[in-house]
Amino acid sequence: MSADTRKLRELDRRHHLHPFTDFKDYSERGGRIVSRAQHIYIYDSDGNRMLDGMSGLWCCNLGYSQQGIVDAITRQLRELPYYNNFFQCSNQPAVELAGQLVDVAPAGFSRVFFTNSGSEANDTNLRLVHRYYDCLGKPHKKHIISRRNAYHGSTIAAASLGGMKAMHEQTRGLDYVHHIAQPHWFEAGTDEDPDTFGMRVARELEQKIDELGEDNVAAFIAEPVQGAGGVIVPPDSYWPEVQRICSERDILFIADEVICGFGRTGRWFGSQTYGLNPDLITFAKAVTNGYMPLGGVLVSDGVADVLTTHAGEFAHGLTYSGHPASCAAGLATLGILREGNIIEKAAADVAPHFQSRLREFTQHRIVGEVRGLGMFAAVELVRDKHSRERLAPDAAAAVYCRNTCNEIGLMVRQTGDAMIMAPPLVCDTNEIDSLIDMLSEALDKTAAHYGVI
Ligand SMILES: *Cc1c(COP(=O)(O)O)cnc(C)c1O
Repeated sequence: MSADTRKLRELDRRHHLHPFTDFKDYSERGGRIVSRAQHIYIYDSDGNRMLDGMSGLWCCNLGYSQQGIVDAITRQLRELPYYNNFFQCSNQPAVELAGQLVDVAPAGFSRVFFTNSGSEANDTNLRLVHRYYDCLGKPHKKHIISRRNAYHGSTIAAASLGGMKAMHEQTRGLDYVHHIAQPHWFEAGTDEDPDTFGMRVARELEQKIDELGEDNVAAFIAEPVQGAGGVIVPPDSYWPEVQRICSERDILFIADEVICGFGRTGRWFGSQTYGLNPDLITFAKAVTNGYMPLGGVLVSDGVADVLTTHAGEFAHGLTYSGHPASCAAGLATLGILREGNIIEKAAADVAPHFQSRLREFTQHRIVGEVRGLGMFAAVELVRDKHSRERLAPDAAAAVYCRNTCNEIGLMVRQTGDAMIMAPPLVCDTNEIDSLIDMLSEALDKTAAHYGVI
């Protein structure tokens, strides 16, 4: 380790509190200083290279070398580094990005509210749906239904919406948010076939609406594919049934597309992949390719018509809503995605290769399930494929496997007992093969470590 690295690590350990991190452990051990990145590779301060199998945090879908985005940000900073969108003001990048987002969104979306993050966008969703029903003279409609093990961000509202057990244990959540089951067939360990299971958990939405009273429920929120929860691809029966319920009942449907949006599932939005008709779409992460913070809510015509024909101020906003440099980054990102047909090309070429190579691991002795679509996937680790007995308690085996991947040069993530991957859309098939080779080596080492031969 170089002297510079040692110094940085020391400062980091002493002064920097990291997100979703065990403070005690980190203060003692420190972490990796990432100092540069190129294409799909990150380099630490000692020059070690890793293939980034997570696109940063599900956001650098175009990798790290998009000079066009960097140029757009710097040009904008020279021209107008900041102005707010309050008080009857607007700015060119925000206006143009709103227009372009409406262009690429599913049909029937006409408005955009900008935030700096996905969490703030979901907070905004709560404000918007409450305002919507207030405008309609239905002020009792305040309750929100979400799902266990969902991830919707980490502000108080977003953590309440999410269904992460550890977050709820550390947060006093909002009392008007309720959770139903997630469509995670493998985890449920049920005897039902996936479609019977999917139908049953979809109908929990209907039951919850009846239990709370339809007159009290404002919205259902869900990720088309749960990302942080473990790339949970629902059974085929699930979404059509949920969509039926949302259409029959007077509630709004919020699709949290913070991970699914901008190509991850093979289409621009996961809602298109699954034929969903949401009323609101949350976006963030890949909208700027991760180069600048930006999130927001896409608002459908039906909701927008009510909101924009009612007088009275919407009392919500952020200092940096529609920040010109972030919006310039968004415009450049959409430009690259559209002009290069990146989403269509990845869906036709590298994504099928990624998914089929990963399916080879279904034969591996410690793999219980491989699931995924488009450019993200999960591999569940087990000791026994049939009983689904895990290799070790507390997800220790997946942590071991992740650490092994990291040591051999592959950045992936672990959620529970699943290994999670979401490589950039700009990978080629050779790069996917090298990701597969490293994962394969780590799986073998994990099997050996836990005595499975
Ligand atoms: C990351 C994420 C969020 C939160 O976004 P931040 O920008 O981290 O606040 C919300 N929803 C989903 C589905 C996410 O993956």
